[in-house]
Amino acid sequence: MINLIFNLVNRTAQNTLEYIKKTLYPIIKRMICNMQIGKANYMTFKKTLTAILSCSLTAAMLSACSIAGSGNAGHTHSPSDEWDRNAQQHWHACECGEKIDAADHSITDSVCSVCQSKIWDFDDSVEVCNYNEQGELIRSTLYDADGNASSDIRYEFEYNADNIRISTTVYENGRMIEKTEYATNADGESIAVKITNWLGDGLSVINEYDENGDVTAMYSYDEANKLTFEGHYEYSLTADGESYQSKLEEHDLTTDTKYACEYNEYEDILSRIFYNTDGTVKSSERYEYGYDENGKKLWCKTYTNDILTYEVVSYASGSDGESSWRYPKKAIEYYDDGTKLVSEYDEKGNPYIETYFKADGTTDRVLTYEYTLTSDGSYYKSKATEQFEDGTKTVSEYDENKELITQARYDADGNVIE
Ligand SMILES: [Zn+2]
Ligand SMILES: [Zn+2]
Repeated sequence: MINLIFNLVNRTAQNTLEYIKKTLYPIIKRMICNMQIGKANYMTFKKTLTAILSCSLTAAMLSACSIAGSGNAGHTHSPSDEWDRNAQQHWHACECGEKIDAADHSITDSVCSVCQSKIWDFDDSVEVCNYNEQGELIRSTLYDADGNASSDIRYEFEYNADNIRISTTVYENGRMIEKTEYATNADGESIAVKITNWLGDGLSVINEYDENGDVTAMYSYDEANKLTFEGHYEYSLTADGESYQSKLEEHDLTTDTKYACEYNEYEDILSRIFYNTDGTVKSSERYEYGYDENGKKLWCKTYTNDILTYEVVSYASGSDGESSWRYPKKAIEYYDDGTKLVSEYDEKGNPYIETYFKADGTTDRVLTYEYTLTSDGSYYKSKATEQFEDGTKTVSEYDENKELITQARYDADGNVIE
């Protein structure tokens, strides 16, 4: 084989180096490929050939150049075809660490005319960027004032036979940190369907997306690549065609907590069901709502394990121009023993009257509250009156720190008894 190559070299020795580079290398490469010799060997020979031709294009000099000799005993440089670079220089890297053809960047309009790096010179740092033939950023390195790389980000793209991108992989300082996988939608556009992130602490997270860019699944893995969390998400469309999350199922495998939730188009929760390991229902919450024609919430009922436990009879809402709020105006808590508590709230969302009812529906006791404004604009409960069924009552007064100041009990006729 060596003879064959030397013949080729001799035959072309009278031609220009440029001609050789353009025509001979591919021939040799093809030839070597056919001989099933690896790329490293081809690169070795290419380098040697360059050295030979650089020595002199004469047969006499050819004999002085050794096929194995490039000055470095036992190693023939096989530099990469690609330019490597830092803030000042570009070179072809050899796996031995040697920088071949190293030279300072030749910069015009922030671009090196040799290695095509785009070089942004900031006051205290330099950013060197490289782009592929499609103009996509493939590498960005930030150098500090001393020329040390503080961050090196590389992007690798994969394309299918139709030249549509199927993946982007991001490396940070040599470590793979993110991979985005794409699919083609009905319009022939490339859309991200899966993003994997490798976190610095060995954990990883996978997110899957639908064609609207909504997350449909999420998986978290620990350092041993064991699944620790799994979530599945579904979306529906509102009457206006807006996508909203209508369903989720999440399983925290570290605590074996598994639950599913459903939401309506107002993003109010409809149900939350907790499951046992065997898939049976552990507990459930279900919600019902009433809305006005503008979608404003009017009431809400909460069922715990299918029993009505809480009800907001009406809401109050307000706005101060900066923010708006909504809170129950009247709410009812239902207890297991058939008793219930009805609470009514003032404009600040504080309860001012709480009525406890017995299981037979008659009033048990009534608490009324008064509030006092503090210097910082908040309210505190300053007075509480507890009215009992037998007509007696207790009146308590509190200071700003919720400390009881006075308390008095009255009989049904309003006389102090304690
Ligand atoms: Zn080398
Ligand atoms: Zn350069």
